[in-house]
Amino acid sequence: MTAEVVSPEVISPQRVLIAAERCKGCSLCVAVCPPEIMELGSLNRLGYAVVRVTDQARCTSCTACALVCPEVAITVLRPRKARQKRENNP
Ligand code: SF4
Ligand code: SF4
Repeated sequence: MTAEVVSPEVISPQRVLIAAERCKGCSLCVAVCPPEIMELGSLNRLGYAVVRVTDQARCTSCTACALVCPEVAITVLRPRKARQKRENNP
């Protein structure tokens, strides 16, 4: 299996931003996400599998993932803020 190295900042386009270099692949966020839309993916430069959101549209912005992350690697945007961000970056 060939490991794909992701860029330092993996910016999800909608509600959840993940700082790829901070993620240690511990899966705590994966375990607490109510709609189960998080999973580990490509490796970062330190060799850790970085979490990703599989379906941003199903994110409820509950912030559980951000609160549990020991590396403070997740930022959750509120839906309105995310919408404005999309409108400003079509
Ligand atoms: S904010 Fe909530 S629903 Fe969205 S990815 Fe994080 S844990 Fe899942
Ligand atoms: S809780 Fe934080 S460090 Fe752990 S997998 Fe999720 S984003 Fe990465």
